Amino acid sequence: MYDLIIIGAGPAGITAAVYAARKKMQVLVITVDIGGQTIWSGDIDNYTGYQFITGPELASKFEEHMRRYNVVVKENEKVVELRKIDDAVHVKTIKGEYQAKTVIIASGKKSKELRVPGEQEFKNKGLSYCATCDGPLFADKDVAVIGGGNSALDAALQLMKIASHTSIINILPRLGGDAVMREKVENSPAVTIFNNTRVVAVYGEKMVTGIGFVTGADPEKRLHVRGVFVEIGLVPNTGFATDVELNEAGEIKVNCRNETSIPGIFAAGDVTDVPEKQIVIAAGEGAKALLSSFRYLAEHRL
Ligand SMILES: Cc1cc2nc3c(=O)[nH]c(=O)nc-3n(C[C@H](O)[C@H](O)[C@H](O)COP(=O)(O)OP(=O)(O)OC[C@H]3O[C@@H](n4cnc5c(N)ncnc54)[C@H](O)[C@@H]3O)c2cc1C
Repeated sequence: MYDLIIIGAGPAGITAAVYAARKKMQVLVITVDIGGQTIWSGDIDNYTGYQFITGPELASKFEEHMRRYNVVVKENEKVVELRKIDDAVHVKTIKGEYQAKTVIIASGKKSKELRVPGEQEFKNKGLSYCATCDGPLFADKDVAVIGGGNSALDAALQLMKIASHTSIINILPRLGGDAVMREKVENSPAVTIFNNTRVVAVYGEKMVTGIGFVTGADPEKRLHVRGVFVEIGLVPNTGFATDVELNEAGEIKVNCRNETSIPGIFAAGDVTDVPEKQIVIAAGEGAKALLSSFRYLAEHRL
């Protein structure tokens, strides 16, 4: 029986783990990967203390910090079920079952799918959800980024340095996201922006060869690209958390102490209904959730 199980090792989960180790709690971290969405980020200019750092670099600094404390980490392990029975929380994964007195859910978000013909067939065969991870595979090739918000802009900024040409397919009348990023993308000769446009299919043979798109009421047109980067938003990873209360967006409802609707189960970071999804916010929420879990153990004499 652990004092605490942390689900997820993004900024929220890792920060909670560091705080837990410093409180000498018996803590287990169960996670699919280490770093979470920070691994997918290109340049990070807004994490205090670093004027500039890449996502993968920041993720490895987070990991280094956590490992310094000898925290037990089960990596490549996905949580599939969470149940509170009496005073214990039972955490079932694809590999086993664990119990703890408290749990912090810090499972973040994952990419939303396009849901068009060809998407499933060409996943990892030219179609990707991570420009940071897969962008270098498309050096000197034409690529398309699907989306028009910050994630799409981040992907386009990375790809315009690698690919021969980048097309942005944006369903809305104009690009959203941060003005600084938007201006860089809009002023680049290596980028073409298709507004009011939606992707209707991904085509290919063994690998992606193009996309079908529709602008306004026009008939479908095709764009020849070798890479397609889907950046249309994120959905919370809450499939296993069926007992805790969620909001309409599927995010876990928490109060200002990171308590969920079930006593002893806390949540932090992008998976929660806390507004604004940022690394510094997720890390802060992870710290708060841990302090609440520590307080809960003391108050309940567990
Ligand atoms: C392309 C991109 C660029 C970004 N750029 C910036 C930026 O410049 N600055 C900034 O502040 N923020 C940026 N963000 C947002 C930032 O990355 C997130 O707000 C932050 O990573 C959220 O942290 P988190 O710990 O809550 O969740 P995540 O980072 O999503 O981590 C979730 C963790 O949970 C694990 N997990 C998920 N499901 C399960 C499961 N069932 N079982 C076990 N483990 C599971 C995952 O493997 C992962 O380790 C960016 C995001 C993206 C996508």
